[in-house]
Amino acid sequence: AIEARDVRLAFGATPALRGANLAVTPGEVVAVMGPSGSGKSTLLHCLGGILVPDAGEIHVGGHRVDTLDETARSTLRRDRFGFVFQFGQLVPELTAEENVALPLLLGGLRRADALDRARSWFDRLGLAGLERRRSGELSGGQAQRVALARGLVARPTVLFADEPTGALDTLTGEQVMNLLVDGAREQGTTVVLVTHEARVAAYADRTVLVRDGRVTADEPARVGS
Ligand code: ATP
Ligand code: MG
Repeated sequence: AIEARDVRLAFGATPALRGANLAVTPGEVVAVMGPSGSGKSTLLHCLGGILVPDAGEIHVGGHRVDTLDETARSTLRRDRFGFVFQFGQLVPELTAEENVALPLLLGGLRRADALDRARSWFDRLGLAGLERRRSGELSGGQAQRVALARGLVARPTVLFADEPTGALDTLTGEQVMNLLVDGAREQGTTVVLVTHEARVAAYADRTVLVRDGRVTADEPARVGS
C-alpha cells in the first residue's frame, strides 16, 4: 500500500529526512519508533501528503503522492487517508458527533447520513451519551477516542497516527490502541503509527526505527516489552 524511496526533506538548513525508505503492505499495522527529532513526524507528514519532500518518491495506494499539486493532495487526504494526532485536535465549535462526521461531510455525504454513521461509533468507543458534547467538555481520553473515530469513519486506505496515545495514561492508551487496531483491521485499513512507547508499538505487526532522517532498521514488534 505504501512505498517511500529515498525521501529527503530539509527545513531550511535542517535536514529532517536524509533518504528514508519504507514499504508497507496493504492492511499492515506498522509502528515507527526512534529518538526525538529523528524525522518520524516529518516522514508521516510526507507519506500522508501534508508535506512535500525535496526529493524521492512516495506511492500510497497506487497514487504518486509527492508529485501531486496542493488541490489533488488535499482531495487524496480527504478521500483516502485518516489522521490522528497526539492532542486530538478536534474542532472546538463542533459537537463530538459532528467532529466524527466531518470527513464524511467534507466528502459530500448528506448531513443526516453522515451523523448517523458518526453516531454508530459512540457505543463501541464507550462514549454513548456524549455525542452532543463539545470537545472542551470531554476528557483527554474521550477526546482522543472521538479523534480516532474521525480518523477511521470514512474507511480510509491508510490511517496515519502520530503519538495517538502520547497524552494519555497507560490504561486509556491501551483502550485507544485496542480501538485503533480493531477498527483498522475490520476495515482493512493500513496503519502507520508513530510512538515512543514499546507497549504501544507491540500492537503493530512490525516496528521500524528512524534515526537521523533514515529508516535504519526493521524489526518485528516485541510483544510485552
Ligand atoms: P519527536 O519524537 O520529538 O516528535 P520526530 O522524530 O517526530 O521527533 P520531526 O518532527 O520529524 O522529529 O523533526 C525532524 C527534524 O526536523 C528535527 O530536527 C526538527 O527540529 C526539524 N523540524 C521539524 N519540523 C520543523 C519545522 N516545521 N520547521 C523547522 N524544523 C523542523
Ligand atoms: Mg514527532
